Amino acid sequence: MIKLKGIKKFYKTKTGLVNALNGIDLEVNKGDIFGVIGYSGAGKSTLIRLINMLEKPSEGRINVDGSEMSTLSKKALRDARKQIGMIFQHFNLLWSRNVKDNIAFPLEIAGVPKRERERKVKELIHLVGLEGRESAYPSQLSGGQKQRVGIARALANDPKVLLCDEATSALDPKTTEAILDLLVDINQKLGLTIILITHEMHVIKKICHQVAVIDNGIIVEEGEVLDVFRSP
Ligand code: ADP
Ligand code: ADP
Repeated sequence: MIKLKGIKKFYKTKTGLVNALNGIDLEVNKGDIFGVIGYSGAGKSTLIRLINMLEKPSEGRINVDGSEMSTLSKKALRDARKQIGMIFQHFNLLWSRNVKDNIAFPLEIAGVPKRERERKVKELIHLVGLEGRESAYPSQLSGGQKQRVGIARALANDPKVLLCDEATSALDPKTTEAILDLLVDINQKLGLTIILITHEMHVIKKICHQVAVIDNGIIVEEGEVLDVFRSP
């Protein structure tokens, strides 16, 4: 589903070049829950910006669902980006819109007609378990409910991949469990590929099939979660 080959990313700064990523090879298979774990500064955010095609690599190739990123036109790149939904640590909801209208937002942008939008929003609200909270505003929701809205919004345009950026790091342990259960449920129901980026090992252990450990811009370990984290 996603292939990175020989990825390097340099940033020019006043004090010289920063090597954020230093030769990353990564292959995420369709339908997997793939974890990327690393300390702060390891290169996780840079990796996210490359996978969701907000930035281009300095070197190397990125292929998403068969399309080679470097060969895509501007329009094709916009379409390809719709294949990737994203959720965030701090949810990034629109505070002046209620639950329903937050979830409808990407559909509005995509020009989906009102009746179809309403049908889709209803389906998503059911999927993430927010029935009865349709008219609530983000300030009236718990952290877990806010992330459920974030997940529903990310799925609105039927992406093939869900990219989770520290999606449970602002949540308490019990809420974290519930959100991770929801991600597993979505992975199974929709066959959606999930990439989960985190600094928390227990999150990876709970739901990921595969894991890559990133440090200083390179992958230092990769494989089945059970093998990589096996106790000696
Ligand atoms: P993480 O998300 O794992 O904390 P980042 O991808 O944010 O790691 O950062 C990796 C390295 O690249 C760090 O040394 C960081 O300072 C550097 N870096 C990230 N983004 C930029 C940028 N826009 N300009 C300069 N350096 C950057
Ligand atoms: P946390 O998960 O740390 O408790 P919040 O959910 O309170 O964070 O906020 C998420 C993000 O939304 C933060 O970046 C915050 O700055 C922003 N934010 C919070 N309240 C508002 C508001 N009333 N209007 C716009 N943005 C807000």
